[in-house]
Amino acid sequence: MENINWSELTFGYMKTDYNVRCYYRNGKWGELEVSSSEILNLHMAATCLHYGQESFEGLKAFRGKDGQVRVFRMDENAKRMQSSSRGILMAELPVEKFEEAVRKVVRLNERFVPPYESGSSLYIRPLLIGTGAQVGVKPADEYMFLVFVTPVGPYFKTGFQPVPVCIMRDYDRAAPHGTGTIKVGGNYAASLVAGEKAKQAGYNAVLYLDPKEKKYIDECGPANFFGIRGNSYITPASNSILPSTTNKSLMQFAEDMGLTVERRPIPVEELSTFEETGECGTAAVITPISKIDDLDVNKSYVYATDGKPGPVCEKLYNKLRGIQYGDEPDPYGWVQIIE
Ligand SMILES: *Cc1c(COP(=O)(O)O)cnc(C)c1O
Repeated sequence: MENINWSELTFGYMKTDYNVRCYYRNGKWGELEVSSSEILNLHMAATCLHYGQESFEGLKAFRGKDGQVRVFRMDENAKRMQSSSRGILMAELPVEKFEEAVRKVVRLNERFVPPYESGSSLYIRPLLIGTGAQVGVKPADEYMFLVFVTPVGPYFKTGFQPVPVCIMRDYDRAAPHGTGTIKVGGNYAASLVAGEKAKQAGYNAVLYLDPKEKKYIDECGPANFFGIRGNSYITPASNSILPSTTNKSLMQFAEDMGLTVERRPIPVEELSTFEETGECGTAAVITPISKIDDLDVNKSYVYATDGKPGPVCEKLYNKLRGIQYGDEPDPYGWVQIIE
């Protein structure tokens, strides 16, 4: 791909060669199909359009120094998509079928996997939607699973550099016993207004509080939250946040580096005791937080005063990227090489 400036990529959509699709009809999943069209032919009464039967996933493929292409923990994405399906009554796609589709779409679009030196990667977006027609509120009887890919640079233009975030107490992304723990479009729709307001005010993301009591930290829109204090990696336990695979991986690294991992409710006031804080997710990787402004109560928590990532964030970041790009051994068996 001589025309792509790999190191200048943003986190946006670029057309690639193929996508992979699979249909659920008459109570069973069909075979994987390859398409070169970016367009879906969809019934106007499809449940994904009216009643939000839509879930998605996000993962990445990385090209190593050795030229090989690696995918990180895709079984976790497959299982999480099943959990999303259970949450909004969609057909569950078997894990093997999910993985087969990912391998296939990456192979078919291999020329779009950015070179090692660029620091970019191939973003993989699986999608599951209700396609069966309904007018009454009930689940569809037909579903479509689709995976497309697009090469991406860093989610945040600044790359690995601390960014400011804000708390806006008048907005929630998910209800206390709602859909916060599954990866569905509805949560994102609910977060758009606050997200745009935050961006306009110069913030990178909204840090949501628990929607029930507004006392504890939940997560950062599309990324989980963690704080570092002394020898501890501290991340929220909550019934309205999405279980991030990146966060799960960082907890493992932290433990193996000799840190204590605490997963528990984090009262907002505890923000003042952290030495480092960060967002983590497939798109955000690890994005350190420079300050958190709690706008409605006029309070500020400042971390990276020198504008640089803290030492623990940096160590975790290097470990994660090292394993993903194949620079470091993978004792966990988390990467799969796409042959
Ligand atoms: C996808 C997502 C994350 C990040 O999860 P990863 O598995 O690490 O990519 C965090 N929060 C929300 C709400 C998400 O949708």
